[in-house]
Amino acid sequence: MSNFKEYLRDKPDSKISKIIVNRDICIGVASCVAVADSTFKLDEEAKAIVIDPLAADDQTLLMAAQSCPVQAILLIDKAGKQVFP
Ligand code: SF4
Repeated sequence: MSNFKEYLRDKPDSKISKIIVNRDICIGVASCVAVADSTFKLDEEAKAIVIDPLAADDQTLLMAAQSCPVQAILLIDKAGKQVFP
């Protein structure tokens, strides 16, 4: 079973309403942390977690998700549609 961790995001002027990290495939490269260090950090298992879902704007979140080499970050919009990957 996949180990998805979901973080809800209720931010005005933002389309992205949920960040999901697939912990099974995260390999701890931390590119997401490099792009958005106010949002992501690595936990003690060297997997990405979200420390503040509201910290970054949509564009930064998208760049962070795009930077992940294994596409372990999924972004969902307010309509429930997956916007990345
Ligand atoms: S960039 Fe991807 S693989 Fe690397 S820590 Fe972030 S989620 Fe995990």
